Amino acid sequence: MGVLDRFRLDDQTAIVTGGNRGIGRAIARALGEAGADVVVANRNADSGAVAAEEIADATGAETLAVPVDVADEDSVRSMVDSTLAEFGDVDILVNNAGIVVHEGIEDMTLDEWNSVVQTNLTGVFLCSKYAGEPMRAGDGGSIVSVSSMSAFVANYPQRQVAYNASKGGVESFTRQLASEWAEHGIRVNTVAPGYIRTDNTDQADAVDPDIDEVWKGEMLMEEIAPPEDVAPTVVYLASDAARYVTGASVVVDGGYMVR
Ligand code: NDP
Repeated sequence: MGVLDRFRLDDQTAIVTGGNRGIGRAIARALGEAGADVVVANRNADSGAVAAEEIADATGAETLAVPVDVADEDSVRSMVDSTLAEFGDVDILVNNAGIVVHEGIEDMTLDEWNSVVQTNLTGVFLCSKYAGEPMRAGDGGSIVSVSSMSAFVANYPQRQVAYNASKGGVESFTRQLASEWAEHGIRVNTVAPGYIRTDNTDQADAVDPDIDEVWKGEMLMEEIAPPEDVAPTVVYLASDAARYVTGASVVVDGGYMVR
């Protein structure tokens, strides 16, 4: 087998939470290009269906749109059941769904804190728990969570303690789950992006139009990258090319963390 063949995902079924837009959409498309069947799983049914159809047209992949709230246990269980009904297995889970609240702790409400932690961290727990069932029952799998460089550094100038705490939790969760599920042949890793141009970063730009320049000044590559710059790392971590990689974080941040 040639080295590029090891990145192929033919006959694999992948669930991508938040696969309808932003980073998740680029990941869903890339997994489809690599040969996987792709489940686009997010809250908004209409945009999920459009994304699934466009990815199928563009890549030839089999796709399915499944509405899900990753913070809701019944909804996550039903997402996995729908995937099994359509494709018969789950081989790859990409925990990508995430939200941010830009608020100082002085003004942050408990509801805001809970919404961030429940989506970004509890969602990773629930999706891994239920997608992990068919992986454990079968021949293993790969879980890739989209964490953030915010798990490792303090962000500036925006305020976002709940977000950073949730992403730190995802990193810690990942190392522990990798240890507990190695015996089932399940690899568990994260990709930790820096600033990527999506609705998420546009939200910060809407409040502070100069924020891009501050961010760029703090990184080596001075660029807010497109979502397509994160997707290849996820294909790698999901694939046999990363067969010996588990419990790891791959930072994709244009050199923010070394500055
Ligand atoms: P977007 O705001 O563009 O997309 C967020 C995605 O998450 C949407 O697809 C949304 O779909 C989905 N989502 C949100 N809440 C839920 C929920 N409860 N259940 C299911 N789906 C949900 O953000 P990004 O693409 O930027 O972010 C994707 C991931 O990347 C997040 O985890 C984010 O923290 C992380 N990240 C982003 C960075 C950036 O600079 N953009 C940097 C580092 C990490 P819908 O609304 O239909 O549910």
